[in-house]
Amino acid sequence: MSNPTTTSATMTRMIVDVHTHIFPPSLIADRAHLASIDAGFGELYASPKAGMATAEHLLASMDAAGVDVSVACGFWWQHGAQAAEHRAYLLDAAAQSDGRIVPFVPIASDEDASVLDAAVAQGARGLGEWRGGGELDDASAEFVRRATALGLPVLAHCSEDVGHLYPGKHGGLTPGGLWRLISTQPEARVIAAHWGGGFPFAGLMPEVRAALEAGHVLFDTAATPLLYEPRVFIAARMLLGDAIVAWGSDFPLREQERDRAQVEAAGAGFAETYRDAILGGNAARFLELS
Ligand SMILES: [Zn+2]
Repeated sequence: MSNPTTTSATMTRMIVDVHTHIFPPSLIADRAHLASIDAGFGELYASPKAGMATAEHLLASMDAAGVDVSVACGFWWQHGAQAAEHRAYLLDAAAQSDGRIVPFVPIASDEDASVLDAAVAQGARGLGEWRGGGELDDASAEFVRRATALGLPVLAHCSEDVGHLYPGKHGGLTPGGLWRLISTQPEARVIAAHWGGGFPFAGLMPEVRAALEAGHVLFDTAATPLLYEPRVFIAARMLLGDAIVAWGSDFPLREQERDRAQVEAAGAGFAETYRDAILGGNAARFLELS
């Protein structure tokens, strides 16, 4: 027997993590070799200490952290063979997850954007994690154009122009690259990862504000404790309001349970509606989750 009180509380407080990564066991087992043939992969995953998770790991983590839905992303592969294998795995895992895994599929730099057509037919819900080549290169822009034509949002790995170096910092979309994307492809729907590389301050410029108010962009909080002080949540609310930030853990880089707790703590001084919006409400609306 279901408890109606519990059911309605669950419905009003859907917890969504918009930024996680899973890999097929075959690619995890082959990581040393893959690191030698794909520099971008090697930068992040050559070390056996760098966490890699399967769909089973993610679902177990979601149970432990009380997460209803996770966006599971691929990786910005160099070669189509790995991207194709990764896409197939993500789509299969999502199909078996009863709606708990939303698959954002990868595309390799040597692939044609048309591979997204088949992925959509098989259930892809987004493109990601995608890397725009800093200031947005033409080939990357073409991938987004195709995704948008197919109705897919794009989860963009964004990185800062300033601050410390870390694996994966180079090649992420910079704030300038993100603005180029938003202003040249206003119909594109973008989850700008890692706070858009520091983009939110530009939200105070009227023309940027107007572009953001179209509702096509979400900023995710992935890897916040590795990048910013907790006050980033307060600053972002002042700069952007309540409707445009969504929780992303970057699991398994960050544990979902611990990351969620840190978001709850950072927003402890705010109305519950703000925390609810960040922890699921904004993502549910953006991803059209029911
Ligand atoms: Zn990222």
